[in-house]
Amino acid sequence: MKYKRILLKLSGEALLGKKKFGIDPDMLQLYAGEIKKVAEKGVQVAVVIGGGNIFRGEDAVEAGIDRAQGDYMGMLSTLMNAIALQSALEKEGLFTRLMSAIKIEEVCEPFIRRRAVRHLEKGRLVIFGAGLGSPYFTTDSAASLRAIEIGADVVLKGTRVDGIYNADPEKDPMAIRYNNISFDEVYKKGLNVMDMTAFTLCKENELPIIVFDMNKPDNLLRLVSGEEVGTLVTM
Ligand code: UDP
Repeated sequence: MKYKRILLKLSGEALLGKKKFGIDPDMLQLYAGEIKKVAEKGVQVAVVIGGGNIFRGEDAVEAGIDRAQGDYMGMLSTLMNAIALQSALEKEGLFTRLMSAIKIEEVCEPFIRRRAVRHLEKGRLVIFGAGLGSPYFTTDSAASLRAIEIGADVVLKGTRVDGIYNADPEKDPMAIRYNNISFDEVYKKGLNVMDMTAFTLCKENELPIIVFDMNKPDNLLRLVSGEEVGTLVTM
C-alpha cells in the first residue's frame, strides 16, 4: 500500500444520497464497504465526517439562531453522522473508536491525540466527531488538523466529483480536470478544493491532499494502493 495512515474526509451532504434530509442507508453501507476494503489491507484509517445533511452553522442566522450556537448544532450533526458511520463499520466487522471534540461521555471518547494514535496502531478505525469543537470552523479544518496531529500520510477528500477542475464540472461541460496541482497554483487560480483555513494548514505542514470520487466502487482502494485516482495537491 502506498499510504500507511490516511485521513478520509467525507461530507455530510454525501450521506443524503437520494434523500432530502438525513441519512440514506445505501450511502452509509457503500461508504462502510469501501472503507473496509482499505482497512483490511492493514491501512490505518481515520475518518472525519461533515454534518451538512443535517445542519450547517451558516443556516442558523436566517432561522433566528446565533451563528456560534448554530455552529454547535452543526458540530452535533457531525456527531450523529459519526455514530451512524460507526455502526455501519462495526456491521462490516471492523473495530472502531469514535472520538469527539466535544465531550459526550455516554456516547464516545473525548479526543486525545496520543490515544487516537494508539487506537490506529492497534488497528482500530478512528472516527473524529464534532469537528474541532469550536465555532467558525468547518469539518475540512478538522480533517486537516487531525491529519497533521496523527501524522497521516495524506488527506483524502472523498466527494462526488472525480477531482479538481478549472471550473465546476457539474455546470461547465468544458471544465478540465487536473491530475496533479501545486498548493500555489490552487491559490493563484482561486480553485475551490476545501475551505482556505483547512487548505493553508495542509500547505504549511506539507501534507498532500487528494480529491477523488468516493461514490465509485474501489476508488478508495485503488488510490491507497498507489494508482492515480482523482487530483493530487502537493508542494
Ligand atoms: N462546525 C464548526 N466547527 C467545526 C466543524 C464544524 O462550527 O470544527 C459546524 C459548522 O457550522 C458547519 C457544520 O458544523 O457548517 C457542519 O460541518 P460542515 O459544514 O463542515 O459539513 P459538510 O459540509 O462536510 O457536510
